[in-house]
Amino acid sequence: MELLKERILKDGILLSGGVLRVDNFINHQIDAVLMMDIAKEFVARFAGREITKVVTVEASGIAPAIFVGYLLKVPVLFAKKNRPNTMDNSISTSVYSFTKSDSNEITMCGDYLTKEDKILFIDDFLANGNTALGVLKLAEFQKAEVAGMGFIIEKGFQDGASKLKELGVDVVSLAKIKSLGNCEIIFE
Ligand code: 5GP
Repeated sequence: MELLKERILKDGILLSGGVLRVDNFINHQIDAVLMMDIAKEFVARFAGREITKVVTVEASGIAPAIFVGYLLKVPVLFAKKNRPNTMDNSISTSVYSFTKSDSNEITMCGDYLTKEDKILFIDDFLANGNTALGVLKLAEFQKAEVAGMGFIIEKGFQDGASKLKELGVDVVSLAKIKSLGNCEIIFE
């Protein structure tokens, strides 16, 4: 997706440890027009798949997931990072956070993810795949089908995509980064 790549080159900021900051248009301030274009691209790339629900993890996945859910006219379910006391029938799994170097529980209400669901998981980044693997685990608990997983940015120098593909997951990444070394963003 050329528009997205251009924006990453224009506004992405390289941090140490192979982290790309995209706070200007994805992670903090959101470019809603670009986000809708991103969602349209996901919908086109997953066309023909039966999808009953879009699933993501708070917080950064929520914006793209909502646009995709709006276009597909299906509900959007996000896993929470803190389990509210009011939640019944919760399902959880532990996920190691690449950016925080710490593990978090991600939780959702099992009533909203069922064996009738065919989910499309949407997130901002694919790095080592821990978040996506956590969501696969939640889907497995509930016997929900995973129709596909879409990421705005894949860091191809980390092994998330290969882990997911080995498990037979259909992965779509709109901008694939080959390297972030030498203060330069190189796309595949
Ligand atoms: P993974 O679970 O695939 O190891 O990492 C993906 C999650 O970590 C994403 O949901 C995203 O929030 C965060 N993440 C991983 N790499 C980066 C990065 O380079 N920049 C930003 N902003 N977030 C990242």
